Amino acid sequence: MTDPIEEIIVRARREDRVYLLEHECKAILKSIGVPTTSCLVAKSEEEAVSMSEAIGYPVVLKILSPEVIHKSDAGGVKLNLGREEVREAYHELVAKFTPLSPSAGGDKGGVIGVSVQEMAKPGLEVIVGVARDATFGPVLMFGLGGVFVEVLKDVAFRVIPVSERDAQEMMEEIKGYQLLQGYRGRSADIASLRDILLKVSDLVMAYPAIKEVDLNPVFAYPKGCLVVDARMILDGPDRFPKPVRSGDLTAVFEPRSVAIIGASTTPGKAGFNIVDNLLRLGYKGEVYPVNPKAEEILGLRAYPTVDQIPHQVDMAIIATPAGVVVDVMRDCARKGIKSAIIISSGFSEESEEGRRLEEEVVAIAREADIRILGPNTTGIFNPENKFTSSFIPVDRVASGNVAFIAQTGLFLGVLFEHLLSSQRFGISKVAGLGNKADLDDADILEYLASDAQTRVVAMYIEGLSDGRRFLQVAREVTREKPIVVLKSGTTDAGAEAALSHTASLAGRAEVFEAACRQAGILRVQSFEEMLDVVKAFSFLPLPKGKRVAVIHYTGAACVIAADACQREGLELAEFSPATVRALREITPAWHRIRNPVDLWPAIERHWVDTAYGAAIEAVLRDEGVDALVVSMFAMPRWETYTPDFDLLRASDRPVFFCVEGNDELVREAVARIEGQGFPVYPQVNRAVFALSHLSKYRIGRLVNW
Ligand code: ADP
Ligand code: MG
Repeated sequence: MTDPIEEIIVRARREDRVYLLEHECKAILKSIGVPTTSCLVAKSEEEAVSMSEAIGYPVVLKILSPEVIHKSDAGGVKLNLGREEVREAYHELVAKFTPLSPSAGGDKGGVIGVSVQEMAKPGLEVIVGVARDATFGPVLMFGLGGVFVEVLKDVAFRVIPVSERDAQEMMEEIKGYQLLQGYRGRSADIASLRDILLKVSDLVMAYPAIKEVDLNPVFAYPKGCLVVDARMILDGPDRFPKPVRSGDLTAVFEPRSVAIIGASTTPGKAGFNIVDNLLRLGYKGEVYPVNPKAEEILGLRAYPTVDQIPHQVDMAIIATPAGVVVDVMRDCARKGIKSAIIISSGFSEESEEGRRLEEEVVAIAREADIRILGPNTTGIFNPENKFTSSFIPVDRVASGNVAFIAQTGLFLGVLFEHLLSSQRFGISKVAGLGNKADLDDADILEYLASDAQTRVVAMYIEGLSDGRRFLQVAREVTREKPIVVLKSGTTDAGAEAALSHTASLAGRAEVFEAACRQAGILRVQSFEEMLDVVKAFSFLPLPKGKRVAVIHYTGAACVIAADACQREGLELAEFSPATVRALREITPAWHRIRNPVDLWPAIERHWVDTAYGAAIEAVLRDEGVDALVVSMFAMPRWETYTPDFDLLRASDRPVFFCVEGNDELVREAVARIEGQGFPVYPQVNRAVFALSHLSKYRIGRLVNW
């Protein structure tokens, strides 16, 4: 028995059509159990009449022609027809569209016939669609029909395949969700809509030839729904995704011996700085400079080519001009090296010729089973064994638990400086990906997932080469550790001429956002936000719930903090009677006790230490508090409060600090507090923002499991 869906696709291909007609789409939908209006095709007036009689009035007649994509715009839809109107409507449609093509009525274009279907009773109109994203492949769309989609673009996306939860979330995500739940006596059967979303997702997974889908509209009723119009677009010849080579990247991050090809005797040059960095940082492995013109570089014996090194070499760092990298890669292959970082630029980022060069280098590497990072990058930094390929001078980096992945190497160099001078969390691994000719975001993520030093991964992404693999890997990683992503270039409209409505709505930014949600990735919008969030993950345990307590020295900021909590999806904890009693003891009788705690009256009365000490202790004893934000001031002629860190640690809850006031004193306080492993933020809203990401991650992980 042949597969009816396959048959429809094959017939369309044979007829050179990429566009499936309404009756074909409905036949496909029926076969997967999605309810539609009928898909009868009348080829004569008599047939139209007898079909209408069989269906029952009123009926709808629509033109069926490969040349008419938007039927109603072209006047090809006749709604609500009674017994007397069918004949005339049929004639009108056929007459109107027959001149389209000389082969009218035939199988290869022109008018194929007229669709006869029942007039569906009005329901809430929704749209379900599929488009193909250049990075993530097939994506599913859901939205309310009519002005909601046309004007307000109130739609949600998910990368296919979607889970039941994805489908549910898509519906909840749109602003019009309340209309679906019920408004003015109308409501939609959410479960049956979810069922359609899942079935369409399955359909596209099973038939990758289906590139785009528009079910527009679907009528949703209090019980059940009905697809009233459908179109599908087929894909051209299959595209082949790049082969996935997962493997062990230990030698990339932790090589025991490294050759620097293009090592230089001239200070300031990349080939000099790399060797210098390795020596000054105290890299624990062997270093072999390669330079045909030098005997010795920075006191190390230099070799003319890499294959003349008489020892085992785990890693080649290549810093030669682009033109000779092909030869160098051949030397590496001969030497049996399995990992290379290409620092050199002048490849695909520069020109077409560079692109060809890059392809040649990659081909040699693939053949010899060499993994490449770059080209056009600073590469790796691993504070644990002090390995780096960076050509930016690095003096020291605090080792810690935050891993960074970024496309641009220079960005990372500057990041180091920034971390050294202000942020007190340390780094576990850094990878600059450059042109991603071979190793990409997903490969590095996979490695970091099992890296014991890494607790949180921060990523700066410009573009992804293989979105589907990234999504798959990220999904796994976020079960174990949080991923915080800063993505640039998301304002790109990228709208190509699209046949389907869905394709015209599926912008890159929306799809990227949807993919992050599916994978449990946390998105941030700026470098500052990224560091704020990452710092919290680096230092603190996850909260066990959303209930936050805030202690601030001013009433105004208490209101700001309360607003921030609400905005970020957190709740203000309700204090227990015991907590209120304890706070009462330090607070003047006229002052009301509530959360956020306005501590000023207590500070005036008892001085700084007593007030903060008592308040923090009281709040942390409260079982109804999941997280605490404490805001303090640093002013000349006042003591700055220093918390009892043991008490904070013993509470096993995330505690955030803010310090405001005199620059110099703030810096001192930050050093004191962060030195003890508690993050400090300049303002209370930024602390709340960071906390909310801990909470989001916790919740995401709960539902993912
Ligand atoms: P197109 O999208 O190609 O213009 P449709 O088949 O969606 O054509 O028809 C246009 C509009 O007519 C639909 O949005 C819907 O409101 C209405 N309509 C179409 N078919 C039916 C039907 N069988 N029952 C009720 N209304 C229909
Ligand atoms: Mg339509």
